[in-house]
Amino acid sequence: MAAQARPPRKALVTGAARGIGLAIARQLAQDGMQVLATDVDAQALAMAVSDLAQQGFAVAGEPLDVCSRAEVRALLHTLGPLDVVVNNAGIASRLLAFGDIAASELRRIFSVNVSGVFVVAQEAARQMKEGGRIVNIASRGYLGGAGASHYVASKAAVVGLTRAMAIELRWRGITVNAVAPGMVDTRMLDDFSAPMRRSLERREPSGSAADPQTIADAVAFLSSARAAQINGQVLLVDGGKSVGMPPL
Ligand code: NAD
Repeated sequence: MAAQARPPRKALVTGAARGIGLAIARQLAQDGMQVLATDVDAQALAMAVSDLAQQGFAVAGEPLDVCSRAEVRALLHTLGPLDVVVNNAGIASRLLAFGDIAASELRRIFSVNVSGVFVVAQEAARQMKEGGRIVNIASRGYLGGAGASHYVASKAAVVGLTRAMAIELRWRGITVNAVAPGMVDTRMLDDFSAPMRRSLERREPSGSAADPQTIADAVAFLSSARAAQINGQVLLVDGGKSVGMPPL
């Protein structure tokens, strides 16, 4: 009797209309998954999905604001169990001193970067089966840094959440890991002035912001069946900047 072909693994990527999320959606589709790209920006998402189709990738698109539990719940209900969830949607802000961050700005960052990850992961995990993979996009920033303490705190929360979820979900055969990028060449860097961006890029080991594909490659590995023994980890994809600066 001929062996039955396995159905493709189903993946959902948040914040996939551009930047790192778009690269992840493309890579997971290339790896043979059935990918649903989601984003709060419906227009940008439609353009991204159409571009992907022209490149030969049949990626579906669905608008989704990760801050709305009702939207998340409704979408996941229609999708049924997922094999892979990538919590990529995130926001930053211009550089602000700790003392100048308003309560409203702190709430804005946390609602997307922390609550958004929490809610999507929680609702998806309810239906996920054995072999499921959750990958959360943190940031090297979680280690600390000046000028964005609210962003730093939000990404440290993503790391804490990743580790806590990994412990609770491992009994169900689900892994939860985080990828923490260094500086990546996306629209998120538009928050910096050109001189500030150049100065930040000079401090990267490679001397420039990384290609989003480098993050997509790490996410693709952690999303694969091969990564079953990796759980509760934070993979820093930053050219090694987090290990230390070179000697003077
Ligand atoms: P980006 O701004 O290019 O893309 C972010 C995407 O998220 C956008 O398409 C945006 O519409 C979407 N989004 C924003 N709010 C949303 C919401 N409420 N619901 C759904 N989607 C929403 O940024 P990027 O650089 O591709 O960032 C992706 C992730 O990588 C973020 O979590 C970010 O914090 C993280 N990151 C980026 C860098 C970098 O240097 N670019 C470094 C470290 C970590």
